[in-house]
Amino acid sequence: MYGGQQPIFILKEGTERTSGKSAQSNNIAAAKAVADAVRSTLGPKGMDKMLVDSMGDVVITNDGATILKEMDIEHPAAKMIIEIAKTQEQHCYDGTTSAVVIAGELLKRSEDLIEQNVHPTVICEGFRLASEKASDLIETHALKVDEEILKEVAKTALTGKSAGAVKEFLADISVAAVVAVAQTNSEGNTVDVGDIKIQKKQGGSIRDSSLVNGIVLDKERVHSGMPKSVSGASIALINSAIEVKKTEVDAKIQITDPNMLSQFLDEEEQYLRSLVEKFQSVGANTVICQKGIDDLAQHYMSKEGIFAVRRAKKSDMEALSKATGARIVTNIDDLSLEDLGSASKVEERKIGDSDMVFIEGCPEAKSVSVLIRGGTEHVVDEIKRAFDDAVGVVAVAHEDGAVLTGGGSVLAAISRDLRLYAERIGGREQMAVEAFAGALEVIPRTLSENAGLDPVNTIIDLRKAHSEGKTHFGVNVYEGGVADMNKSRVLEPSRVVEQAIQSASETAVMILRIDDVISSRGVSPGGADEFDGLDM
Ligand code: ADP
Ligand code: MG
Repeated sequence: MYGGQQPIFILKEGTERTSGKSAQSNNIAAAKAVADAVRSTLGPKGMDKMLVDSMGDVVITNDGATILKEMDIEHPAAKMIIEIAKTQEQHCYDGTTSAVVIAGELLKRSEDLIEQNVHPTVICEGFRLASEKASDLIETHALKVDEEILKEVAKTALTGKSAGAVKEFLADISVAAVVAVAQTNSEGNTVDVGDIKIQKKQGGSIRDSSLVNGIVLDKERVHSGMPKSVSGASIALINSAIEVKKTEVDAKIQITDPNMLSQFLDEEEQYLRSLVEKFQSVGANTVICQKGIDDLAQHYMSKEGIFAVRRAKKSDMEALSKATGARIVTNIDDLSLEDLGSASKVEERKIGDSDMVFIEGCPEAKSVSVLIRGGTEHVVDEIKRAFDDAVGVVAVAHEDGAVLTGGGSVLAAISRDLRLYAERIGGREQMAVEAFAGALEVIPRTLSENAGLDPVNTIIDLRKAHSEGKTHFGVNVYEGGVADMNKSRVLEPSRVVEQAIQSASETAVMILRIDDVISSRGVSPGGADEFDGLDM
């Protein structure tokens, strides 16, 4: 009677579906593949990657977030792993590779547990307990921050990058920059890294990089007759063109005799002259314009000794407004004394083969620039990426006031504590907490692998040291074995480590809970449109 029952289709034709264990192992494999792609870059002895995009452009980098950003990844579970790197980068500026590698290891160990018939929901619960405990444990290992520590934090972040050779130098600049823009109140420090403008300029050597107490514009003054330098600058910021106003409608002017023509031109001249007189009357000796400046206006300005720059970037205009206290004005007729900002010096200087404008000694000193120099574009780009990290971690450490010893030391310590904690939990969750504890050791293990050391011996030495209460012991990537990371001054912000563990754990849990992948349009399990939101 039921023999002729028709199958019911609830999904569109072409939809692919994988479910149960095969969906799980497929997702886990994809996530592990992403982790494997970046693990060789981890740590001071990590290698760089050369990435070539579809246009043939080359990026050479050691930065996990950059590598994952440049890779064209389709698989939805792999994209979730990339999301970890993105979160890590946004909140902590560093630790991206670590976060991804930990997530990969958590999933790898989950696979083993699933094979032993531990249900994914039990694993998820164990991971949740373990990551909560890990956060508490991190606090107990934190060291207090002072200026010397800030510098060490910057140096640790720069170690192993191509900027590593000049880390002392760059660390000094990054600490000075962060301290200059930091706001301190009763609740502590806050740092807006957006107040630190990083300006790349190819040419010269890395050591020519410098911190400028103010703003640098990659522009030159518009007219060679203008002064090269203005002391006690009164600055007008204009975001409309300094030219004769165009009529709203296309108008044709019939000129019937030569007098009319000269009268017409006189009027234009007169108008431009009046604009320049306006600058003079309010006392502006420096004009930064976001749009163009008419040739004749340039001429009048130079005659009056006004320093002017045209076509400044919008972001620079905003930064200038913040730093100098000037208000950005559209209608020059409305310009008044109150709109002007000030700086102790505005000067055009030759940097490499081009001229740049320096606006220094701004009253609202909470704005600094760092001029990054280097021989080639690739060098400047990679130095900037490393410097961004250094400034970021210094800012985080300055805000939070807490750092940890690195080199896998704190992870080894937490791993040990979590194993003890697991025993107290008992049951099946115990296995998941133990797996979590083991997964954290992936960091010291990978650090030692990448340094060409024997990872098994390293882990044995490390466990021994920690069982003797040497909680600062981590991997000695230079000489082999283990060493006191507090003595070696390998320090990183607590937030970096904590966030890496939390987001790795959350994402592993999210992936483990999936037992069904339904993807439309026959795309391989993944690449479905709804996952585009996770794109970097
Ligand atoms: P991430 O993207 O995770 O920041 P890195 O390549 O920057 O990856 O490596 C960071 C890891 O290297 C951290 O675990 C850090 O503690 C470790 N590390 C940094 N400097 C040293 C050092 N001098 N000795 C041992 N480990 C170090
Ligand atoms: Mg790093």
